[in-house]
Amino acid sequence: MASVIQRALGMHQKYGPGLSRDPRVRSLLDDYGQAIAQTGQLTQDLGIPAFCMACATRDGVCCFAGVERRYDEYLLLINLLLGAPAAWEKSAGPTCYFCGPQGCTLLAKHSFCHNFFCAEIKQALGGAGMAAINRQVGLELSCQWELERVLLPWLWAREKQDL
Ligand code: SF4
Ligand code: SF4
Repeated sequence: MASVIQRALGMHQKYGPGLSRDPRVRSLLDDYGQAIAQTGQLTQDLGIPAFCMACATRDGVCCFAGVERRYDEYLLLINLLLGAPAAWEKSAGPTCYFCGPQGCTLLAKHSFCHNFFCAEIKQALGGAGMAAINRQVGLELSCQWELERVLLPWLWAREKQDL
């Protein structure tokens, strides 16, 4: 994981200012940031964090070790562009690398993380609550996809120029 993080930090240092100044990338980053905030608000409104906090006290958190391998340098770069704290350190305990004392330290999450809801939460939210959160997660992930569709070719073009 350390090499993936190093590549993300290196790209952020080299290309972060240019990416943030590019009007198309900037607008897509803003849309994605707003969608992430809306998902966070809906999660709060539906009471999901209380379940996860209770679970964490029982050492039952579902952010298990190995999930971090789904993250590549590009999704971590997007986290940095969105202002996620860059001081990622291996979490203590047998959990995902990005799981900190207050939960996940990432802003831009992989669909794997977004699409998992345990049976307890599904039961508590019921059909209407699950439909609402799935709809919002779908919107957020489509913003991520739109951003990657523009950001990756931007990066590849610059990297080619720099060879
Ligand atoms: S999603 Fe479910 S299993 Fe995972 S931390 Fe929350 S309550 Fe626990
Ligand atoms: S939500 Fe965050 S901490 Fe949990 S598995 Fe996903 S990346 Fe890891």
